[in-house]
Amino acid sequence: MNRTRVIAIDGFAATGKSTIAKKLARTLDYRYLDTGSMFRTLTHHAMQQGFLSEEKLDDTAFQVFLENSHFHWLGTALGFNGQALGNEIRSHEVAEKVSHMAAIPFVRAFTLKNQHELASGQSIVIDGRDIGTVVFPEAHHKFFLNAAPEVRAQRRWEELREQGQKVDLQDVLQNVRDRDKKDSDRIVAPLRKADDAVLIDTSELSIEDVFQTMLSHIQ
Ligand code: C5P
Repeated sequence: MNRTRVIAIDGFAATGKSTIAKKLARTLDYRYLDTGSMFRTLTHHAMQQGFLSEEKLDDTAFQVFLENSHFHWLGTALGFNGQALGNEIRSHEVAEKVSHMAAIPFVRAFTLKNQHELASGQSIVIDGRDIGTVVFPEAHHKFFLNAAPEVRAQRRWEELREQGQKVDLQDVLQNVRDRDKKDSDRIVAPLRKADDAVLIDTSELSIEDVFQTMLSHIQ
C-alpha cells in the first residue's frame, strides 16, 4: 500500500510559501520541494550560458541542454546536474526573467517530469504555482496563499537586503506585480487556486499563525 502523502502549497509571489512549507516539512518529517527554485535554476543557467538574452530564448539549444539535464536529490536538498543550487538563483535579475521562462511549454514539461520523479515514493511538502491544479491534483492537502502586493514586496525586499542585494523597493513591487500577471495569464499551468484548496491571506498573519492554521487542517 502506498502510504506517501503530498501537501501542495501554491500562491502568489513572496507570500511566505517556502518558509512555511519548510517548517511544515520539518515538523512532519516530510521532504520539501521548492519548485520555484527549479524555474529559477533553469533561468540562471540559460542566462549564464547565453541561451537567454533579454527575453529571447534560443529554443533549440536550450531544449538540447534540457535533454541532458536533470534535477535530483543531494541528501534532502535539491541538486541540478550534480551541483547544489546556489544563492545566485535568488537574485533580482533572475526574478525579472523567470516568469518568461516558466511560461514556455517545453520548459514546463521538463519541470513536471522532474517534479514527479523527485516526489516519487516520498511524503512531501511541495510549493509552487500549479501544484494543486496540475502537478499533484490528487494531493492530500492543498493550500493557496495570497497577501497584498505591498506587503509581499516589503517582505521580499527585506530578504534581498539581508542577502546583501541592493534593490529599490519600487522595483521589487513592480517585479512582484509583473510575475503575478505573467504567472496568472500564461496558457500552460497558470497560477490558479484549486477548487479544493484552502485559501489563506497572509497579509496580517505571522509565519507562525499561517503554520498553525495549516497544521490544524492537516491534523
Ligand atoms: O516561488 P518563486 O517565487 O521562487 O518562483 C519563481 C517563479 O517560478 C514564479 O514567479 C513562476 O514564474 C515560476 N513558477 C512556476 N510554477 C511553479 C513554481 C514557480 O511557474 N510551480
